[in-house]
Amino acid sequence: AVRTRIAPSPTGFLHLGTARTALYSWAYARHYGGKFVLRIEDTDVARSTQDSVDQILAAMHWLGLDYDEGPIYQMQRLERYQAVIDQLIAEGKAYRCYCSPEELDAMKAAQEARGEKRRYDGTWRPEPGKVLPPVPEGVTPVVRFKNPIDGDVVWDDLVKGTISINNREIDDLIIQRTDGVPTYNFAVVVDDWDMQISHVFRGDEHVNNTPWQINIFNALGAPLPKFGHMAVILGDDGQKLSKRRGAVSVTAYEEGGYLPEAMLNYLSRLGWSHGDDELFSREQLVSWFDGTHLNKSPAQWDPAKLEWVNSHYIKQADDARLAQLVAVQLAKRGITASVERLQPMCALFKDRCSTTVALADWLAMYFSQVEASAEERAAHLNDSIRPALRSLADKFATLEWNKAAIQAAIKETIGAHGLKMPQLAIPVRVLVCGRAQTPSVDAVLELFEKEIVIERLQSF
Ligand code: GLU
Repeated sequence: AVRTRIAPSPTGFLHLGTARTALYSWAYARHYGGKFVLRIEDTDVARSTQDSVDQILAAMHWLGLDYDEGPIYQMQRLERYQAVIDQLIAEGKAYRCYCSPEELDAMKAAQEARGEKRRYDGTWRPEPGKVLPPVPEGVTPVVRFKNPIDGDVVWDDLVKGTISINNREIDDLIIQRTDGVPTYNFAVVVDDWDMQISHVFRGDEHVNNTPWQINIFNALGAPLPKFGHMAVILGDDGQKLSKRRGAVSVTAYEEGGYLPEAMLNYLSRLGWSHGDDELFSREQLVSWFDGTHLNKSPAQWDPAKLEWVNSHYIKQADDARLAQLVAVQLAKRGITASVERLQPMCALFKDRCSTTVALADWLAMYFSQVEASAEERAAHLNDSIRPALRSLADKFATLEWNKAAIQAAIKETIGAHGLKMPQLAIPVRVLVCGRAQTPSVDAVLELFEKEIVIERLQSF
């Protein structure tokens, strides 16, 4: 049975790369009717926080990546790891190493001086007939895995194809630190084994860890999962996507006015394709995502494309839902707006907005005065237009406030003052909306409170 997992370390927000891995693991499990497990890899006690766990869970929930089991916390499984370590030691597959940090440093310095690769030299590695050094007093040992000396570790990577590493390249990995906490490469194997994970999708940065993990699986007599190492995501500068170059957390995009379905759609295309399809639903993703067509080459994070995808989903989104999201954005600016009032506004403006933040930028004018720039005022407002603005304001005062009536009042006014439509409509927009270009002026004005329109017209 297909069982996949995502295993974030709770040392920060949910990174876009981890979100993509989670998405593939989730989609793969859903495609094959399997299970998707969430595991929290919190063995880095100093850097792991509950706040980070909460953020990661919230971001997964927002993306709609529902899991079937978990969250399972590694720090609650220490006894299990200890039991496996004891067993490996008893079987001669792992051993205690009493080298001090100073000795290890000296070892590495000497190797570097000889131009050799840095590796543990096997001082405490038991071998038949070998006499080990006397155990020093008062030193807490680490535990190392006794890695095979020769032979190759080979696996068929779901993304990268066949990978083969000679065991000479790998040294005896520390699997338990002096504080008793297991290291990543060990805990991950025990967990993937116990949780019966069939497919491991993860980032490229782990590909060098996999040979160790495979050797540990084999030492435990555990069945091997299949591995797929996703190519990195690069920023537009060709460097690995990182915080210094813009938002890299899922939460930042939620706050930036992106819709989860757009994020899901865009993320899934970063490293995977289905023909020329660019826009597809969650259901389509699940039905297409069978583990093939994963890209070997790095993906490029493209903010403009994400925006394009998002604008597609904004256009499609239900107005009441958009109104709720925009209300949240406006609240951040100190504007309280009801969903009922925002709903028709969203309907009118959503076609020209690529995020709910952009929608809020537009809709703020309905609740607080947005001043046009001095240039725009100078370009569109002059004394000769004032009489027409005054008479329009007067007409509005007695008007039953609806689009048809507003349009009629504007038409009468341009007729009476010998103006062309833009000669009046643009100054009206500049005064009321704070910008010269908007959707059709009657539709825009209708959604204002009449008194506010009159007040703003009279302000010039
Ligand atoms: N905790 C590891 C990470 O966040 C998990 C790697 C894995 O999936 O094995 O990178």
